[in-house]
Amino acid sequence: MVPEAKFPLMIFPVLSCSCRFGVLEGDKGIGRSPLLEVRGNVELKRPLVKAPSRLPLPGTRFKRRPDQMEDALEPEKKRTRGLDTVTKMATSHPRAPALTARPQMQGQTTAPKVPKKTGPRCSTAIATVLKNQKPGPAVPAQKPAAAAPPLLGGKKPTKRPAWDLKGQLCDLNAQLQCFRERTQTLNQENQQLQDQLQEAQQQARALGAECRTLEGELARVQAQAEQSQQELGNLRAHVLELEEQLGTQEGLVQELQKERLGLQEERRGLATRLEEQERRLQASEAALSGSQAEVASLRQEAAAQAAALVEQGERLHGLEMERRRLHNQLQELKGNIRVFCRVRPVLAGEPTPSPGFLLFPSGPGGPSDPPTRLSVSRSDDRRGTLSGAPAPTTRHDFSFDRVFPPGSGQDQVFEEIAMLVQSALDGYPVCIFAYGQTGSGKTFTMEGGPGGDPQVEGLIPRALRHLFSVAQELGGQGWTYSFVASYVEIYNETVRDLLATGTRKGQGGECEIRRAGPGSEELTVTNARYVPVSCEKEVEALLHVARQNRAVARTSQNERSSRSHSVFQLQISGEHAGRGLQCGAPLSLVDLAGSERLDPGLALGPGERERLRETQAINSSLSTLGLVIMALSNKESHVPYRNSKLTYLLQNSLGGSAKMLMFVNISPLEENVSESLNSLRFASKVNQCVIGTAQANRK
Ligand code: ADP
Ligand code: MG
Repeated sequence: MVPEAKFPLMIFPVLSCSCRFGVLEGDKGIGRSPLLEVRGNVELKRPLVKAPSRLPLPGTRFKRRPDQMEDALEPEKKRTRGLDTVTKMATSHPRAPALTARPQMQGQTTAPKVPKKTGPRCSTAIATVLKNQKPGPAVPAQKPAAAAPPLLGGKKPTKRPAWDLKGQLCDLNAQLQCFRERTQTLNQENQQLQDQLQEAQQQARALGAECRTLEGELARVQAQAEQSQQELGNLRAHVLELEEQLGTQEGLVQELQKERLGLQEERRGLATRLEEQERRLQASEAALSGSQAEVASLRQEAAAQAAALVEQGERLHGLEMERRRLHNQLQELKGNIRVFCRVRPVLAGEPTPSPGFLLFPSGPGGPSDPPTRLSVSRSDDRRGTLSGAPAPTTRHDFSFDRVFPPGSGQDQVFEEIAMLVQSALDGYPVCIFAYGQTGSGKTFTMEGGPGGDPQVEGLIPRALRHLFSVAQELGGQGWTYSFVASYVEIYNETVRDLLATGTRKGQGGECEIRRAGPGSEELTVTNARYVPVSCEKEVEALLHVARQNRAVARTSQNERSSRSHSVFQLQISGEHAGRGLQCGAPLSLVDLAGSERLDPGLALGPGERERLRETQAINSSLSTLGLVIMALSNKESHVPYRNSKLTYLLQNSLGGSAKMLMFVNISPLEENVSESLNSLRFASKVNQCVIGTAQANRK
């Protein structure tokens, strides 16, 4: 049997069930069943009712045989051996009939006494029952249906007489047996329930494990759900974004549709235009085929013209070469050394010379001929004083290539030298000097008058303008020219750059005349600027810089400009790429220092000594120039170029193929007559020189 302590809840319901049925309560005086005895009086604490008589009650029909008694007692015996033995009986009697036996028991008023003949064990048990059972109030039947008498073995029990204690005992035993069976059944049920309980516990444990698994699963699912929720949120946001994009795209689609409509319209218009154009094209093609024939004939004509053009070009080139040759011949006929005399006008404030002081006799062709002669009348005051008669005048006649009276304009002067400048472009070195005493108009002739008036522009700007213009014309014949200018001053046999700018400006940096390279004939001035020029403005700028440099020098040294030689040189380079021809020559324009000599009557103070030194240097260089020209004219083997810086610098522009022009500038004043005559004499000597046939510097 399963201990009560282990399964109290499963046992108590069984006991309380027994009490409710009131099996023993109804059998007052009979005593309690062995089972109830075993369980104690825990629940049935009512006093047992003592039977009024030991005799069988009248009308008791139930009689029991000894074997029946034995049968009745058998379960008791078996109980003492173990409840397991009654299991078969419990299974043989259904539960319901046992339960329905209770009302039958209730109806009995007296409990039959236990007969003494019963076995010691049985009697002891009954006695114990009777002893423990106390009389108590009868428990009313709970259910009317339970009033039916118990059916044991399917037979209806018969009522035993009161004296038939044995029979009653047998009945009781039968009842006991019945209860034992019930107990057994209940125990089995209990066992089953316990098994079920164990099973249920196992199931509960399994369920607990499953529950934990499921909880884990639930947590996982919840996490998944949260993740899904988050994803859902993201997807919703994405959906919103996509919806927004969809809206934009829809708007775009609408715009595109509008645009498409517009384009379709445009396409229709274009198609119309295309048709129109095609019609025109067809017409044009027809016209073109007509034109092509015309073009073919024109091409033939053009080819013929091109051939003619080439022929013309050849002819032109031949003519140009012929022109150069003839031009040079003309210049040679005029003389490779030419001397022009220019008399400046009397300036405001200067004394008017006496009439006849300077005369410009007409040429052989009459007044229309340009003058070439000059007569200077000089009165011999000394002879006049000695005789007391009016001083006789001595007439000095000079003849030059050209004489310019005071009224001659700059343009007239330039006209005469323009042909010479042309020679420089043709590749002949050209050198133009201005010789004369200070104030005779050398600078005016070379650079021009003050104020920038175009009318008084000198030879330098005019010559360069002419060169640029002719070079451009020759460009049409395939010639390209470049010009590089330099401007230096030679003072007291030192060379100074007149184009110096910046820190060297006006300081007369040390310049030296050197050969351009070993074995080279070309000369160059070190530290001097050689500036490429291509237009008048650039030349003007250079002359402006030179004037400024001279002005600076003038403040530091008294009228230094008149005591120095200014040499403007332009290196001309020409090239005919088509024919592989090159030509190059220097054009030199020299404003010489004042040719006046020092007055021998002057006292030699410190200033005068310096002046004397200057004058000696000037005279030396000018006489060297004369000597060089003479040597060239006389075809002497030695030409003293190196005797002065001036002739050394100009040696490539003198002699040989060079063409030289000297302006002798004369003051119109009578007071300068002595110096004027000196200048004219010097110029006459030069004019008598003939330098050999010029050769163009062709390469
Ligand atoms: P040089 O250079 O020989 O010392 P300049 O050229 O300075 O002489 O001339 C002296 C002055 O005479 C200057 O004022 C100049 O303007 C003026 N002069 C010179 N020649 C002419 C001329 N042909 N026409 C007008 N003025 C002249
Ligand atoms: Mg001057």
